[in-house]
Amino acid sequence: MPEKTLSFFENSLTQLDNASKVLELDPSIHKMLKKPERVLTVSVPICLDDGTTEVFTGYRSQYSTARGPAKGGIRYHPNVSLDEVIALSMLMTWKCALVGIPFGGGKGGVVCNPKEMSENELRRMTRRYTVGILPIIGPEQDIPAPDVYTGSREMAWIMDTYSMMKGYSVPGVVTGKPLNIGGSLGRNIATGRGATFVLFEALKHFNMSPSNVTCAIQGFGNAGSVAAFFLHEIGSKVIAVSDSKGAVYNKEGFNPNKVMEHKQKTGSVVDCEGCETISNSELLELECDVLMPAALENVITKENATNINAKIVIEIANGPTSSEADKILYDRDVFLVPDILANAGGVTVSYFEWSQSLTGWLWTEEEVLTRLEKIMQQGFRDALKVSKEKEISMRTASQVFAIDRVADAIKTRGLFP
Ligand code: NAD
Repeated sequence: MPEKTLSFFENSLTQLDNASKVLELDPSIHKMLKKPERVLTVSVPICLDDGTTEVFTGYRSQYSTARGPAKGGIRYHPNVSLDEVIALSMLMTWKCALVGIPFGGGKGGVVCNPKEMSENELRRMTRRYTVGILPIIGPEQDIPAPDVYTGSREMAWIMDTYSMMKGYSVPGVVTGKPLNIGGSLGRNIATGRGATFVLFEALKHFNMSPSNVTCAIQGFGNAGSVAAFFLHEIGSKVIAVSDSKGAVYNKEGFNPNKVMEHKQKTGSVVDCEGCETISNSELLELECDVLMPAALENVITKENATNINAKIVIEIANGPTSSEADKILYDRDVFLVPDILANAGGVTVSYFEWSQSLTGWLWTEEEVLTRLEKIMQQGFRDALKVSKEKEISMRTASQVFAIDRVADAIKTRGLFP
């Protein structure tokens, strides 16, 4: 019989089970952590520009609120599914706990193809979806943020819709807002910068210098491009980047700003001058010091894990490595910094933004990045310590550390009623 491929959520549950074994977790808390606290499915009917009606499906999952309000992005993509949204909300729970910010985990998504929709259609869909999930979101309840194919524009629409329904402005309902309505300086570069701060710690661990390393980055969007720009700025060699249409490669390294100019002119990184065009799967298998998957989940699988030629993998994307591939990479001594740590910069600065929205304080970009660096360094050191002590991978160590924190909060609060 052919082996069954695990779904994203099943994969995440396997990781929870592994971490729970290491922790010798109380079975009742383990049982509670295997299920999301609350999941909402909404139907999102809108009038398209041609006058016809389309009905989209939207989801919001709140995995845990044991440590604080649910927190997590909203994704617009044709492949969004309930399974994916729940898995991502679980990862958000561990991520917030790992870096010690006072949030639980949530995630949302709408099944749609934003590339085929006009701005007006997207606005109507976002507003209608917001009203659908309105009963369960709010600054003290669940705070959405951008994810794949959503950004500050969508967050402004959500903030405005929520505020209109309440009758007053509620900037704390979302993060990743534009600056002029309460966004935080540094939020747009937080995930990419956070990943590079973690990379620097990993390089220190291997006595390597950032100015001497070669990096391949899959995905050249919000997160991946910022990492590429910063790495180039500090002297690392960016040798490949990609988008959904393909990848570009030059083993001598290139200036990612030039690739961005090309992408802005042509719509893709493909065929950029001075680079060879390769496929996304070839990018993943390039010989390099650092590989940063920064696009979608499940791109490193048991099929290609033996061909990964990087020394260090920094998972900027959520869930880019399957459980089977994870084991293969660990056995091959590839040092992998898992998503819940590597991309925690986004949610950390979201926490800074939420704090500023609630208090009215405004922080400078320098303040934001300095605080971010400290939190990312601490997260890496906490995970590395557990990884060394228990002789486990950085992924299991990060989860062990994070799950222990969530379990501790559940224990302290006690079971209601
Ligand atoms: P984005 O939409 O800005 O960029 C996604 C990039 O991936 C684009 O360059 C796109 O062309 C590329 N892509 C899409 N399909 C692809 C495919 N099949 N093969 C290769 N590339 C493909 O999204 P983003 O905000 O940069 O998010 C990227 C990843 O990082 C996601 O997994 C997201 O969950 C994660 N993440 C983002 C943030 C954030 O703050 N932006 C925070 C945490 C995690």
